[in-house]
Amino acid sequence: MYLKRLEVKGFKSFADKVDLEFGKGITAIVGPNGSGKSNISDAIRWVLGEQSAKTLRGGKMEDVIFSGTENRKALGCAEVSLTIDNTNKILPLEYSEITVTRRLYRSGESEYLINNTIVRLKDIVELFMDTGIGKDGYSLIGQGKIDEILSTKSEERRNIFEEAAGIVKYKTRKQEAERK
Ligand code: ATP
Ligand code: MG
Repeated sequence: MYLKRLEVKGFKSFADKVDLEFGKGITAIVGPNGSGKSNISDAIRWVLGEQSAKTLRGGKMEDVIFSGTENRKALGCAEVSLTIDNTNKILPLEYSEITVTRRLYRSGESEYLINNTIVRLKDIVELFMDTGIGKDGYSLIGQGKIDEILSTKSEERRNIFEEAAGIVKYKTRKQEAERK
């Protein structure tokens, strides 16, 4: 299982559609300050369901939509698709390639899709639960994540081990059942 492709359109500084292909192994993204490197990791976090505009370095969620430049109009919609190779079926779906998509319109309307079928945010969260890939998973290591791993709060450290051990989905189901 690995990240195969990321397609970004109207997201932050990426007005035109950009298609990034990732192979197996290590990919490094280099570029001058302000060229959009961090916007790529923001796009990955966002498509995985991030709900905090602050985590995405904005004030409100609409800030992820391309806001225009001197010679280019703002856009009305941001769209990101992330494709994962699932030939070893680690993700619990029959497909050997899984694409998750998120769209946001300036009207506030938003959509999530798995392989072009509209789903709920909950379906995306559950798909990646216990895989380390989710928006809070350890496959995305930002500066805050390192603090979390080194945290003296045992609760925060435990969350990481629980995700790696694969028991988050059972804990979540138990909590849901108890709430009913
Ligand atoms: P550094 O090396 O300094 O970390 P970086 O390559 O990580 O830079 P980013 O932070 O990814 O750069 O990109 C910042 C750029 O993205 C800024 O020029 C900012 O104006 C632009 N940007 C952010 N949000 C939007 C938006 N909604 N519309 C248009 N441009 C945007
Ligand atoms: Mg940066």
